Order: sequence, then C-alpha cells, then structure tokens
Amino acid sequence: MRPFDYQRAEGMDHAGRLVAAENAQPIAGGTNLLDLMKLQVETPQALVDINRVGHAEIEDTDDGGLWIGTLATNTATAAHPRVRADYPVLARAILAGATQQLRNRATTGGNLCQRTRCYYFTNIDQPCNKREPGSGCGAIDGIARLHAVLGTSDQCIATYPGDMAVALSALAATVHIATAEGGTRTVPVREFHRLPGDTPWKDNVLEPGELIMGVTVPPPGEGKQIYRKVRERSSYAFALCSIAVIVEMDGDMITRADLAFGGLAHKPWHNPEVGEVLVGQKPGAALFDKAADVLLRDARGYGENDFKIPLARRTLAAVLAEATGAEL
Ligand code: SF4
Repeated sequence: MRPFDYQRAEGMDHAGRLVAAENAQPIAGGTNLLDLMKLQVETPQALVDINRVGHAEIEDTDDGGLWIGTLATNTATAAHPRVRADYPVLARAILAGATQQLRNRATTGGNLCQRTRCYYFTNIDQPCNKREPGSGCGAIDGIARLHAVLGTSDQCIATYPGDMAVALSALAATVHIATAEGGTRTVPVREFHRLPGDTPWKDNVLEPGELIMGVTVPPPGEGKQIYRKVRERSSYAFALCSIAVIVEMDGDMITRADLAFGGLAHKPWHNPEVGEVLVGQKPGAALFDKAADVLLRDARGYGENDFKIPLARRTLAAVLAEATGAEL
C-alpha cells in the first residue's frame, strides 16, 4: 500500500471540500477501497474519513417511504423493522451479499460505489481500460466467467458486483447527492450507475467532490417481493445472475411487475419493457419466456460467460413462477 494522508471530515460540507481535492477519496467502511489500495489499484493521496458526517439514520419519509442514510450499515438496513416488513427484497438482497463481518462495516453509499471484481481490474500487471484508460481489456478475449452479457462495449465487459442496488433498482429508489458547491441533487438509482461505453473508468454519475447523502425508497406496494441470487457457491460469492422482482396480482392477472437484474451488466439492469410484457397477462411459462426474450434480445456472450444467457432465462422463469404461483 502506498502512503496517503488521512483527513477526518466533521460534516457533509467539510467532507465535500476535502473530497474535491485532486486524488482524494472518501472512506467509510472501507471494505472495498482498502482492498483495492493494498493491490495498488486505487492509489489516493488523501483518504477523507466521512464516518462523522452523520447520515447513518433510517427513517420514515412523509409520503410513507423510507430514507436510508449513506452511513447506515448494511447490517442495520437489513435488520431494520420497516425494511424487513415493507421491503423484504432489499433485506434479502443485502443479506445475500458479502459476509456478516463485511455487512457490519459496509455502508449504503459505499455499497452503491463499490467497484467491479473483474480479475484484470484487480491485477495491476494486466491490461484494463477501467483501471488504466487505453491499456486494453484483458477480459474480452480472456477469463470472462463473471462478466457482462448486456450493455457491454468494446472497451469493457465488467459487471457491477453488488446486490443491494439491484433491489433498490426494482424498488425505484432515488439517490440523494451533496454537490461540491454545497447544494444537493437527486438521481434515480436506475440512472446512478453507468454503462461502460468508451469511458469505462466512470462507474457512476458522481462528479468530483460529490458525496452520497442517502437513498429514499418509495412507499411499498402490496406485491410479492423476491430476490434470487445464483452464484458459484451458497455464500460469499458474487452473482452470476440475480433478480429482484416485485409482482402484484389481481386474481390471476399480473397488475405490476418491477424487475432488476444483477450479474449481467455494468450496472443493475432495468429494462421497463420486461415488466410491460408481463402486466395485464396471466402468468405462465410462455409469458415468462416472452419476458426473457425481451430481456435478452441484445445479449452477447464472450465465450466463458455464454452460459449466463440461458441461466438468466431459467432464473427469470423460476422467480416469476414463485412470485405468481404459476406452474412451469
Ligand atoms: Fe478492465 Fe472492464 Fe476489461 Fe475488466 S472488463 S479488464 S474492468 S476494461
């Protein structure tokens, strides 16, 4: 690990000023950043400790939704009575990620900003356009088992590794951001993470000096919520494919279907057309197949990860069958 300055921020404005400095990075739980610093993938000159800026609270919002502060730990969020009662898809997604020890330290903001686990990204001897722009992408013709099949570019095929944001995407949550100028702005979580395009080093829409203050989740509906994660082993592994689904039924008709997918793209994948195919229809294998056709219309495998395309199709059918009670 290279030497760095340590600075402690005493409030959000103070943190913003410190983080705006060149090559400064915020740190809260540090569960991803410190690993990357040890590997010399991240080499900040200054770490800004934001653990004292507040915003660890989880509170009801006036409209019946929920505010989750940026410093709320993953453990606190997953265990919160309102999350367990009204947003079980979020609780289950968080509990499907990492380990208890990591969730005790990991925070809302840090979880949203975690970086890809692409093997080439974390090995400084390998080419990687995300770590070193213009150096190439080792994964495209290399080891790509964990990599994306949707929204890729010829610069990068990495996946976003998290679970929590997939559930937040299905729930249509909003990210609240403190700007470098001392103001605030909001971004739908579905637009917070970026596709790689020709700037794969930009994971999300945060500008220099901006910090996440928290997320709001809209009031819950009546529907069934499920998070299913398919991975290489039953714990402490990243998703090969994950699905967060919220489905409401009126009799035998689907009236709401909000879905988001993990492990398939550089961001939690949300295609509203998938839900639109389902709404107003009776659930069944043929309908689920049609939804998968829409989801995977532009999917492309890179050899080792070709299996993700049929895997996503089967997982989608299984999750929708569970959510609707339909037979497959
Ligand atoms: Fe780097 Fe992206 Fe290629 Fe991985 S997939 S080597 S992160 S450019």
